[in-house]
Formats: sequence, structure tokens, C-alpha cells
Amino acid sequence: MIRKIHTFPDSVLRKKAQPVENIDVDISELLNDMTETMYNQKGVGLAAPQVGVSLRVVVIDTTSGEQPDTLLHLINPEITAAEGEQTGEEGCLSIPGEYEPVRRYNRVTVKAFNPAGEEIEFEAEGFLARAVQHELDHLEGVLFIDRIPPYKRDIVKKHIKRRIADGDYGTIEDVQS
Ligand SMILES: [Zn+2]
Repeated sequence: MIRKIHTFPDSVLRKKAQPVENIDVDISELLNDMTETMYNQKGVGLAAPQVGVSLRVVVIDTTSGEQPDTLLHLINPEITAAEGEQTGEEGCLSIPGEYEPVRRYNRVTVKAFNPAGEEIEFEAEGFLARAVQHELDHLEGVLFIDRIPPYKRDIVKKHIKRRIADGDYGTIEDVQS
């Protein structure tokens, strides 16, 4: 089932997400719905807070469904090591239509649980490492616009305000400054 994507400045995007305690049928359903929602929007990643669920659950597919074996379902993920540096343009399904360059680690080691409840560990580099860092930020209530220079953040926020006023953004809430 496709779920509603919550957009900035929705407060659910600012909450620290809670760890999953039991990987049960509700979590499987959440993961399936998040995957469907991500593919529907041609996204490469989605974190549970973006569908209004404040839990540490993330889906990532850097091919956006072109190669389904690249799909990752991560529960309670953590970055255990990080190195190097990369800068690349980033967007977010919760901040539709806005893109800015963001500096990230180039390589990360990730620990998580899979839907079978097994602990997994893997290394990610380049674009996948970027997607992992972006999605894990969501679990801390952090958005990519928090990682750009303040003057640019002001420009993006003003732009969003104008788009909301024009009915061109996808939320009717007021942007907080
Ligand atoms: Zn995002």
C-alpha cells in the first residue's frame, strides 16, 4: 500500500525515531509499504518518519527498482565506521523539488537487522554511502538542508514558502522560519 509522504516542515520529520523492539508482521508490512511508496515516487531511499512512523526503519534502492536485488531493508541501522569525503547533489521525497550539494563521508560501514531478524553488516561507498547517510539522518530528525550552508538553507526555505503559497509544494502547513 502506498503511504502518504510527510513533507517539510511536518514535525514528525524532526523527531528522533525509536528502535524497533520486535520484527513482527507490522514491521514487514511497513517495509513493504515503504518500498512501494519509494518506487512510486522514483526515490532511492525512504525512512519510516517520512511516512509518519517514528521508528528506526529504512529502505534503500539506488536503482529505484531497476535492479530489485539492490533493495535494502534495514532495521535499527547504525553507521559503525566512516571515512573519506564526497560532495554530490541531494534531494529528498519530503522536500520535493529542492536539490543542493551536500558533503558526506565517501565510505561507511553499516550494521543493521534484516527482516528475518538477523544482524547484518556491510560496507557502502559513493552513492550508496550517500543514500545510507541521508536515510539514517532521517532517524535522528536531520534533513539534508541542515547540512548545507545557512544562507543557502534560508534561500531553500523561502523558495518552499513561495511554492506553498502558490499551491505548488504538496503541503498546506506554514513553513516555520
Ligand atoms: Zn530524505
